[in-house]
Amino acid sequence: MVSSLVDGLVFVMLGSVLLALNWLFQRRQSNGRLPCPNDAALIPNVAEACDGAEPVRFFWCGSCMELFALVGKASAGRWAASFAQDLGAGGWKLWKAISSERDVQLAVDAVSRVPPQG
Ligand SMILES: [Zn+2]
Repeated sequence: MVSSLVDGLVFVMLGSVLLALNWLFQRRQSNGRLPCPNDAALIPNVAEACDGAEPVRFFWCGSCMELFALVGKASAGRWAASFAQDLGAGGWKLWKAISSERDVQLAVDAVSRVPPQG
């Protein structure tokens, strides 16, 4: 009776450890990726500019064909704007302004450094 209780407890504990490992593994896999503001797909960080007033990180969503700019520190970033590739002239054109004018301007200033995606 007691031993089956202990067995059960060990089983539950092993289960928790496996769940925790699984969680850690998933976190590692999503490392650096953020959900796309349009479709919530995990999108990769493709470029970063740290020399402005605030860091700007860029994330590319291949299914939306949109480049998203996140302004601010990693823990407190805000989506500022999205950009579309300008296939004619090259480079990027502002697609959507999401956050404040200041954030949008920081993103616009930094986007020229992002290489073409696709
Ligand atoms: Zn998307």
